[in-house]
Amino acid sequence: MYIGGRWRPANGDRRIDVIAPTTEQVVAQVPAGSALDVDDAVRAARAALPGWAATPPAGRAALLGKVRELMAARRQEITATIALELGAPPAFAAAVHTGLPIAVMGSFAALAAEYPFEEKIGNSTVFHEPVGVVGAITPWNYPLHQIVAKVAPALAAGCPVVLKPAEDTPLVAQLLTEILHEAGVPAGVFNLVTGLGPVAGQALVEHPGVDLVSFTGSTAVGRQIGATAGAAVKRVALELGGKSANVILPGADLGRAVNVGLANVFANSGQTCSAWTRILVDSERYDEAVDLAVAATAKYVPGERVGPLVNAEQRHRVRGYIRRGVEEGARIVAGGPEAPEGLATGYYVRPTVFADVRPEMTIAQEEIFGPVVVLIRYEDEEDALRIANGTVYGLAGAVWGPDEETAVAFARRMDTGQVDINGGRFNPLAPFGGYKQSGVGRELGAHGLAEYLQTKSLQF
Ligand code: NAP
Ligand code: MG
Repeated sequence: MYIGGRWRPANGDRRIDVIAPTTEQVVAQVPAGSALDVDDAVRAARAALPGWAATPPAGRAALLGKVRELMAARRQEITATIALELGAPPAFAAAVHTGLPIAVMGSFAALAAEYPFEEKIGNSTVFHEPVGVVGAITPWNYPLHQIVAKVAPALAAGCPVVLKPAEDTPLVAQLLTEILHEAGVPAGVFNLVTGLGPVAGQALVEHPGVDLVSFTGSTAVGRQIGATAGAAVKRVALELGGKSANVILPGADLGRAVNVGLANVFANSGQTCSAWTRILVDSERYDEAVDLAVAATAKYVPGERVGPLVNAEQRHRVRGYIRRGVEEGARIVAGGPEAPEGLATGYYVRPTVFADVRPEMTIAQEEIFGPVVVLIRYEDEEDALRIANGTVYGLAGAVWGPDEETAVAFARRMDTGQVDINGGRFNPLAPFGGYKQSGVGRELGAHGLAEYLQTKSLQF
């Protein structure tokens, strides 16, 4: 545990095995923190709050800049750690799992310096003050990015943090902790408690010394955390699941839309909350889209371009969804529930494409969190919109149109937090977060920073 500026043993002696998903071997162990450890960490954070909140934004900015530099210097170690504990292919681990959080850390270093923490409204001066101690709970699918997307804005805002990372990927969390320590983050401003969700995670959510809980993970756990936080009148930010639509309008570049769409899902083996897992195509071009998807999927070879899933449970769960799709009458046109050829070891799942999928099928409604794409046919634009908006989720999406105007008009009617227009690039400064059951609150950029602030108005 890293508490109050130093590494120390956990209160108990339970440990968690870290398993490499490519080899299924135990590669490390970390301590399983208890409610006692969480209590120590929250106390340390509370003690650090006044000093950190009073540190001028320029000082907080300088420290985050130093953290970014040290992350960049240890780039290869970060990549190797994520490749090991998540099983991410090295190229993807380097470009996305490592590159993105370094960029995000840099963005919050800049924002801490620039953000208007004070504003004038009529005869009032409004101060944007840190919300207090933050309890951060993160998942394994983008293990460092999701930590940085909480820790960087919290520190930029002046909030101390207690982090409970995912049990499957604690090693990169320990590595970041070393970096924060080396950068000189003051004692208690950042604390790490590794452990299990229902033990350490829940203790953090329930702790009265935590002012804001920021959670990323499943909707089931998010719902529970939201209820607990609500009962204590505690701020909560939830970044939950998705079932995002990739809408290909008539007249759009079908080949590009299908190819980019599949890349979006198969990257990270489908373990992306914002993945466009439903491809919507008009009836006229549906068969052509199916052929294009089959051809494109052949390029995604498990063990090469596509890594394993994070653990055996996830593999079991994803294969269960693939079987369910067949039972409900959808047609597998690529992949399937069997193990990929020649890969007896490792939690691999074959990249799978379903055709003849109806919008109400389980595989078109629930988040599968694996390399599985469904192709849904629509009759006209209104039908496409109904299908696109017809799930409980609303995290992301894509629209491909014959021109930007048509695509934008459609995107404006979608109930979702982010939409990429004709292949628009991911923007790490744009607010990220969900409509409907995809969550509460936004991460990244100035909007992400604002989540960690509360206002105080002085009248003159
Ligand atoms: P999860 O259980 O929601 O895990 C997310 C984080 O919450 C982990 O750190 C977890 O700890 C912790 N947690 C679990 N139960 C908790 C509780 N009662 N109180 C406080 N914290 C708790 O997700 P998962 O089991 O890893 O994955 C299951 C499914 O969730 C996936 O198949 C996918 O559909 C979805 N998911 C979505 C995202 C996303 O980015 N939206 C990310 C991951 C998973 P442990 O590590 O010990 O479980
Ligand atoms: Mg879990």
